[in-house]
Amino acid sequence: MRYNAELIAVGTELLLGNIANTDAQMLSEGLSALGIDVYYHTVVGDNPQRLKDALAIAKGRANIIITTGGLGPTYDDLTKQTICESFGVPLEFHPEVWEDIKSYFLKRMKGKAITENNRQQAMLPVGCTVFYNDVGTAPGCAMACGDTRVIMLPGPPYECRYLFTHKVVPYLKDLTHEKIFSHSLRIFGMGESQVEAVLHDMMVEGANPTLAPYAKTGEVQLRATAKAPTEEAAEEMLRPVLEKVRGTLGDVVYGTDVASLEEVVLAELKTRGRTLSAAESCTGGLIAKRVTDLPGASAVFRGGVVSYTNGVKESALGVPRDLLDTYGAVSEPVAVAMAEGCRNLCGSDYALSVTGVAGPDRDDRGNAVGTVFIALSSPNGTVCRQVDLTRGRSRGHIRHLAASHAFDLLRRRLLDLPL
Ligand code: ATP
Repeated sequence: MRYNAELIAVGTELLLGNIANTDAQMLSEGLSALGIDVYYHTVVGDNPQRLKDALAIAKGRANIIITTGGLGPTYDDLTKQTICESFGVPLEFHPEVWEDIKSYFLKRMKGKAITENNRQQAMLPVGCTVFYNDVGTAPGCAMACGDTRVIMLPGPPYECRYLFTHKVVPYLKDLTHEKIFSHSLRIFGMGESQVEAVLHDMMVEGANPTLAPYAKTGEVQLRATAKAPTEEAAEEMLRPVLEKVRGTLGDVVYGTDVASLEEVVLAELKTRGRTLSAAESCTGGLIAKRVTDLPGASAVFRGGVVSYTNGVKESALGVPRDLLDTYGAVSEPVAVAMAEGCRNLCGSDYALSVTGVAGPDRDDRGNAVGTVFIALSSPNGTVCRQVDLTRGRSRGHIRHLAASHAFDLLRRRLLDLPL
């Protein structure tokens, strides 16, 4: 049977715009990696009748319905009851789930008393598959209603992701009897439309394996997916696809099955036993944040300076006053002096620097928003690259792109790629 899914997110705060529906994004991405098509996303408030209406529509057009939210112990958590009413399946008390919830409270919620309404989280549809929740109190579950599978997951994103990855993916793999394997290629330095234009034929023609693009902030992700009886057979099918993509796109492909540019750079520095520091003006510490978000950063990252004003560029990094006066803070000579000063100050092998205009206004010298200089000081000299981020959508976007360009400059230097 060919499966297709519909996601129904339950929560008035989603409709009010208080929070974004990130669960839907995560689930859609995960389902597409399993080769399951997602045709519709629906959001309903905490309102049983409107949820029933949404379920009635979903039943008619999807054979997998996944709901998120409304599994908690409070009065507005009505998802399970409403779904059970809609599908004519009674709820029953699951003593083993109640024991599990109680032991979670004992272990993780020290000092917090379990309340009687937590018992309601152990009420689950008769005959369902329980997805025990090791990271929260609300278990998820799946029930079969004729040809339709209804899967209920808690709303908090961490719990939703945990249950989906560890419980729902194996459940769906069993259901579809298909073995699906995928690899994801990460690309920096080429836009999504350019990537699609170059790889158009492979993307359109491929039925198995398939190649599909996903836009990420400032970069592109391509996922190659194969269905095959064994992992080895899938790898055989995927190898030529991956080779062709790498051969066509060249060194803008920065990794396969990696999470980010900074992860790649950190791993390369670690392998070489080299250290890094960063002098940041317009990125305001984002490079340091992105590196130190990664476990094991302490082996590589020595520290940095957020030199937002000329005074700090001069006093902390030793940028000569006459350079600042002559060229202005957003300039190649200042970026170079910042990187070299930071390398001296922190005693690192490599130092990155970023100085630019994140907006919303031009700087006092009239440099356009998105004008950014990035320098890299290393044992064999200092290089500087001016990047044009004038198409950046916002301060945050420009800062993110500037930090990514800095990581890419370092990646290129470490791997001897053209700068
Ligand atoms: P809880 O046991 O915490 O009540 P629940 O399954 O009942 O879990 P909700 O009460 O609907 O979930 O939502 C709890 C919180 O989870 C929300 O306040 C929100 O912060 C987050 N959340 C819910 N749904 C989503 C979603 N679709 N995307 C992102 N975050 C969500």
